[in-house]
Amino acid sequence: MSRVLLIYTGGTIGMRRNSRTGALEPFHFDQMASGIPELEHAPVEIDVRQFAPPLDSSNIQPDHWRQMVEVVAENYDHYDGFVILHGTDTMAYTAAALSFMFENLTKPVILTGSQLPIGQLRTDGKENLITSIEIAAAKDDEGHAMVPEVGVYFNGHLMRGNRTTKQSAEGFNAFESFNYPHLVEAGVNISYLRHRMLRPDWQAPMLAHTLMDSNVLVFSLFPGIREDYVRHMLTMPHLRGIVMRSFGSGNAPQSEWLTQVLREAYDDGKVIVNVSQCMAGSVEMSRYDAGCHLKDAGVVSGYDCTVEAAVTKLMYICGHCADAEEVRSWMAKNMRGEMSV
Ligand code: ASP
Repeated sequence: MSRVLLIYTGGTIGMRRNSRTGALEPFHFDQMASGIPELEHAPVEIDVRQFAPPLDSSNIQPDHWRQMVEVVAENYDHYDGFVILHGTDTMAYTAAALSFMFENLTKPVILTGSQLPIGQLRTDGKENLITSIEIAAAKDDEGHAMVPEVGVYFNGHLMRGNRTTKQSAEGFNAFESFNYPHLVEAGVNISYLRHRMLRPDWQAPMLAHTLMDSNVLVFSLFPGIREDYVRHMLTMPHLRGIVMRSFGSGNAPQSEWLTQVLREAYDDGKVIVNVSQCMAGSVEMSRYDAGCHLKDAGVVSGYDCTVEAAVTKLMYICGHCADAEEVRSWMAKNMRGEMSV
């Protein structure tokens, strides 16, 4: 029998309504588990660790990512897979962060949650949880994990963790992976699309990393953006990296001041990564004149990376490299399937 470790961090899946305020708040795992008696009959041995107190995922910080990495790393040899129950609001950030923090992952780390608490009649939480456990437990004929990746499972699909974005606060299809196809489709049967998955070195050990540098920032361009505000932001002491959300295929206003401010930030050792405000498609700074000047100012292309993947990758790389040129060179490389280069 496969063994799966369930790590309950919080989120709607385990929430219940506060009778005084009417608002949903995280609750303990036992309360949640009593809503899924099916778990007892699953052909998988399940152990549980829970965050105390459980969190609304809006409160997740890099320290919580470290805790998740440590729990998985400490238990890595004792389980076939891991399921992390997490709120949907920041699940895509956590999934992306964990994908960088685990090097040569050979076992599934599946994040899931739900839009409705497990105690509600129409909950999507039961299917999400039960299928995630099944995926985390699945092995091939050679005994290798079917999904050696950090993934997000929601509404019948498993997506690569560092490619997902929360797209809906309403529908059960809360997540989508706009620039990479799904890894698993769960219908009547569960189809594992293994040709789309990462291939680890099965003989080499998994390496867990916990250093993350949060001296980073994300900002969006918009028509009318002011020089003094951008200058203030880009000259902040200790700031090491910026994810700049540009227009379309990586374009920006061709104002002289913007090129100059970006160039000054570059000269000051700051790393600026260009990702698009569009959900789908890639940054191509040479496509339009309005993108070329960014390249000349030393801006690095984030290609088709999500904002979530770009900012967590920047934290991870800045946590490991002191030299700005080295950070730029890693940011331009595909490390864990987060970008199509
Ligand atoms: N606010 C909740 C959270 O992210 C939303 C959810 O879980 O769907 O924890």
